[in-house]
Amino acid sequence: MTASAAPNEFNIYESAEARFESAAKRLNLEEGLYRYLKYPNKEIAVYLPVRLDNGKLDVFIGYRVHHSIVRGPCKGGIRFDKNVTLDEVRALAAWMTWKCAVVNIPFGGAKGGVICDPSKLSQAEIERITRRYTAELSEWIGPEQDVPAPDLGTNEQTMAWVMDTYSMHVRHTETAVVTGKPLDLGGSRGRREATGRGCLMVCDRALARLGMKREQTRVVIQGFGNVGSMAAMLMHQAGYKITGLADVNGALYNDKGFDVPKMMDWVYTQKKPLPEFPGGGTKLSAQEVLFQPCEIVIPAAVENQITTQNAHRVQAKILCEGANGPTTAAADDIIDQKGIFVIPDILANAGGVSVSYFEWVQDRQGFFWRESEVNERLRDLMENGFDEVVRYAETHGVNNRIAAYMLAIDRVAVALKHRGIYA
Ligand code: NAD
Repeated sequence: MTASAAPNEFNIYESAEARFESAAKRLNLEEGLYRYLKYPNKEIAVYLPVRLDNGKLDVFIGYRVHHSIVRGPCKGGIRFDKNVTLDEVRALAAWMTWKCAVVNIPFGGAKGGVICDPSKLSQAEIERITRRYTAELSEWIGPEQDVPAPDLGTNEQTMAWVMDTYSMHVRHTETAVVTGKPLDLGGSRGRREATGRGCLMVCDRALARLGMKREQTRVVIQGFGNVGSMAAMLMHQAGYKITGLADVNGALYNDKGFDVPKMMDWVYTQKKPLPEFPGGGTKLSAQEVLFQPCEIVIPAAVENQITTQNAHRVQAKILCEGANGPTTAAADDIIDQKGIFVIPDILANAGGVSVSYFEWVQDRQGFFWRESEVNERLRDLMENGFDEVVRYAETHGVNNRIAAYMLAIDRVAVALKHRGIYA
C-alpha cells in the first residue's frame, strides 16, 4: 500500500485516507481492491460563466466527484463555499460511500462544490450559478446515476433549481434527481430534521450501552444550522440538558441548560446573533465550547475542530460527530486514550442521507409516506448501523471509527467481488 506523503493534519482528504488505510489493513484488503476503493470513479471540473447583477461576467469553478457506484447510484451534497477545494470534495465523496454502506442503503458516494461566497451573492446570482452548474453536469447526474443533495451554503431552494434545470434538459419533470427538495416538490417529510434526529437516535443508543440517563446528560453542540439546531431541539424535547451552543458568531455555555425553542426563535425568527441570547450564560469562542464540562459533545459545524492541539481538553464521555470530519485523524489517538466513546461522522450524521434515500424512493414510487413512517424507518437504519459498528469494534478490537470504516469497506468490497471488474 502506498504511504501518503507529507501529512497535513488539516487536509481532510489525508484524514479520510489515514482512516481508510488503517481499516483496509485490519481487513487485510488485497492490494488491487485497496487501490480500486481508494481512488474516485470520476472527477469533473466545470467552469461556470455567470452574469452578475452588476452586468459583469464572472467565471466560477465547480467540481463533482463520483467516488463509487459499486452499490448503486452515487449520492452526495453540493457545497457552495469560498473554501471549496478538489481535495475537500474528494474526501467528502469518499465519506459518502462509506456512510451509505454503514447504514446499508443502496448508494455509492459523490460530492460537489462551487467556489463562491453565497453571503456576497444575490439570490438571482446563486440561481444562475446553480442552473449553469446543473446544466454542465446534466449528463452525469440523474436518478440512476448521481443524486445530489444540499450541503453547506445550499438548501431546499437550490435543490428546486437543480431539479427544474435537469427536468428542462431531459424534457420531463424528474423529481428523483435530487433530494432535500421542498415538501411540495417531491421532498420527504422528516428530511429537514433527519440528520439531527439521527444524532439523537445514536446518542440514545450510546447512553443505553454506557448505563447513562438522558436527564443527567449535559450536551454541548457546536453549529446551530440544520444539523445542530435540529439535534438541539429534538434532544431538548427528549429530556437531555443542552448546556452549550455555538454558531459562527460565537458560543454560550450555561450549566442550567437552554430553553432551545426560545433560542430557535431568537436566531431564526428574530434573526439575532446566538451569543446575544438574553441571560444566555458565559460567552465563549465557537471552538472553546467544545471543551466545556458535559457528557456529550456534538461538533455540528465545520471540519478540523478537534485537533492534536486541543483534543486533550475534551471533557465529554461521548463524542457524536454531527459534522463531517470535525476531528482530525491525527487527534484520534488522543481521543482514544481518554476513553471517549466516539460515534464517528459516517455513522452519526448518516440520518440525512438515510431520509434522502427515502425521498428518492418516494419520488420514484410517486407515493409519499407519513412522517411517523419515515422516522420509524430512520430508526431502523441508525440503530442497526450503530449496533453493527459496535459489534465490529468488539470483534476486531478497534475503536468505533475504524470499525465503521471496516464495516463500510467490507460491504463495498463484497458487492464489488460479486460484480467483478468490467473489461
Ligand atoms: P448549515 O450551513 O445549516 O449550518 C452550519 C452551522 O455552523 C451554522 O450555525 C454556522 O453559523 C455554524 N458555523 C459555521 N462556521 C463555524 C465555525 N467556524 N465555528 C462554529 N460554528 C460555525 O450546515 P449543516 O447542514 O447544519 O451542516 C453542518 C455540518 O454537518 C457540515 O459538516 C455538513 O457537511 C454536515 N452534514 C450535514 C447534513 C445535513 O443533512 N444538513 C448531513 C450530514 C452531514
